[in-house]
Amino acid sequence: MQVIELLHDLRVIWNNKEKIKMKENKNMGRLLVIGCGGVAQVAIQKCCQNSAVFTEMCIASRTVSKCDALKDKLEKQGTPVKITTATVNADDVNDVVKLIKEYKPEAVLNVALPYQDLVIMDACLECKVDYIDTANYEPEDTDDPKWREIYEKRCKEKGFTAYFDYSWQWAYMDKFKEAGITGLLGTGFDPGVTSVFTAYAKKHYFDEIHYIDIMDCNGGDHGYAFATNFNPEINLREVSANGSYWEDGHWVETKPMEIKRVYDFPEVGQKDMYLLHHEEIEALGRNFPEVKRIRFFMTFGQSYLDHMRCLEDVGMLSTSPINFDGKEIVPIQFLKALLPDPASLGPRTVGKTNIGCIFRGIKDGKERVVYIYNVCDHQECYKELGSQAISYTTGVPAMIGTALVMSGKWKKPGVYTTDEFDPDPYMEMLNEYGLPWVVDENPVLVD
Ligand code: NDP
Repeated sequence: MQVIELLHDLRVIWNNKEKIKMKENKNMGRLLVIGCGGVAQVAIQKCCQNSAVFTEMCIASRTVSKCDALKDKLEKQGTPVKITTATVNADDVNDVVKLIKEYKPEAVLNVALPYQDLVIMDACLECKVDYIDTANYEPEDTDDPKWREIYEKRCKEKGFTAYFDYSWQWAYMDKFKEAGITGLLGTGFDPGVTSVFTAYAKKHYFDEIHYIDIMDCNGGDHGYAFATNFNPEINLREVSANGSYWEDGHWVETKPMEIKRVYDFPEVGQKDMYLLHHEEIEALGRNFPEVKRIRFFMTFGQSYLDHMRCLEDVGMLSTSPINFDGKEIVPIQFLKALLPDPASLGPRTVGKTNIGCIFRGIKDGKERVVYIYNVCDHQECYKELGSQAISYTTGVPAMIGTALVMSGKWKKPGVYTTDEFDPDPYMEMLNEYGLPWVVDENPVLVD
């Protein structure tokens, strides 16, 4: 047994050495970005502000014209980063492998959709390059019987019914270790920064954290009666699902929007917020076993909720294909085509976001409360990068996580979430790249 373990360790060391040798050659600083939507456009522009780490970049997506337009904009601004573009279908592993082999990046940043996570991870594994994303895997076709069988088993075993969970990507842990590559999962704001806030609170403020309330408040107004701030399909699936929270080592599930609280957010004001299931709870519950309860709240206005309920009631949020006039269409995808493109909301959105976490726990035997949050102004984001604050607050952390992996500070073969690394360099970069944070040691609690 010991000999087998030794051989395994030697193989991991050898693979890592090979990887380091490859890096020393020519791939250093070269990033492949997949996707060119709202989040990607911010991440890419932020990479260009950090050209000490990112020297060359290939922007690849299904619609290459979007990549070309962004490349032109950045080149006109005089970016020192050498940019190329490519067409890629990230639902096809061979297509992604072909592009990685041609471009030879040091890492791949996946800012396409969660549907593509596993295909892109498989391609990174085959080519031995690091992998970074902002949202955990969920399938596009939730009627697929093979997926459904595993999903229904998981619902029973774990006690939550969301379509997404980490098991699919955590299953890559050993394969990534053996290949000597890092997989950084969920480096957006939530998940992403909220988990870094947790690691930072634990490192600097607590011996034990007992309660975490994550609160995502969007006080922005885009003037439409109904629009979503990021990909409508992913957003509406998340918001219309059952809520859930983590308590005493297990999940407690609620009906959609069943738990409502009102909170007075710094710099935004009083808002209604609702308890949702959210992916970072799963990772935090596993990695901080002393935590007694973790909840996630998001603010919604009445108009958004009324429209969503009506669309749901008439079947427009369904992910199951229907036959219309001899053509197969998926209702939620048709709805996406009707709604404003989130990337187009920038010029018309005013107001601020406030996203953060309230921690309660123990330090030196005494009870302590700490609230860490960021406030971001939609119009300031638009002035800087031409985007609204939701894409901005996701795209900046996507760049930061990628930079930390590529600079070696967050390099660790295997598959990890952002709470599993030293939070300090990430927190410094948040201040440096446009998402400064505040620590309040006397906040109002959520009941
Ligand atoms: P968009 O819909 O604006 O952009 C998605 C991009 O992916 C588009 O450029 C699209 O290309 C491309 N794409 C889709 N399918 C494929 C494919 N098969 N092959 C290649 N490219 C493809 O989404 P967002 O920018 O709003 O969101 C991006 C990601 O960020 C999502 O995973 C989302 O869940 C995540 N997110 C994370 C947050 C966090 O805080 N952690 C918050 C908000 C979002 P095309 O347009 O040409 O079809």
